[in-house]
Amino acid sequence: MDAVVTVAVQLANALTPGEAHGRPYLPPGGSALPAAVTAALRAGRADTRDVSAGEAAQFRTVAGEIRAVFDAVAAGRTDAAASLVNDMLARTGARPRLDRHDGEPWHLHFHGAEDSLVTGWSAGCATGLAVVLGSDLGGRLGVCTAPRCDRVYVDTSRNATRRFCSTTCQNRVKTAAFRRKQAQPHDVGPPGPQPKKISASA
Ligand SMILES: [Zn+2]
Repeated sequence: MDAVVTVAVQLANALTPGEAHGRPYLPPGGSALPAAVTAALRAGRADTRDVSAGEAAQFRTVAGEIRAVFDAVAAGRTDAAASLVNDMLARTGARPRLDRHDGEPWHLHFHGAEDSLVTGWSAGCATGLAVVLGSDLGGRLGVCTAPRCDRVYVDTSRNATRRFCSTTCQNRVKTAAFRRKQAQPHDVGPPGPQPKKISASA
């Protein structure tokens, strides 16, 4: 299940426009698009074949649907997120199936109504998001809170404290806070107790 959630995150981040790590982000086009999709899928399953240009274009639509789910959760619209995931499950005809391959033990895969690459992965991503949303980890689908970044993530930290898409954004925010502090003149602090004068004769 982790693999399909990882792929969902990768697809949304690679293929939807917006902002990434402080800069405007445009998804790759032309021949770079299939390569980007293939890389996103391989983050979940290393032996995935190269995708074609036609498949890559369909994955761009899927990525938009995945992003809408993250956006809805991050905005506190959980009902809308659930409804979007249900639509994806219905449209892809997601169905569970026990598979065994490559010397692995039997494990659960999610297939689509037909076995095309795009439908199969869409069904898998929809199921992965459904499992997360339907568990007590539902609030862990996140959108980066750093300035000028809207990349998505799944918070797998133990205390559910993650707020950024990456260490890049975490460090950007830390550095900015540090610079703000450094830039403040020392004599313009908030009013507070004055330091007591220590008498030299005591
Ligand atoms: Zn970010």
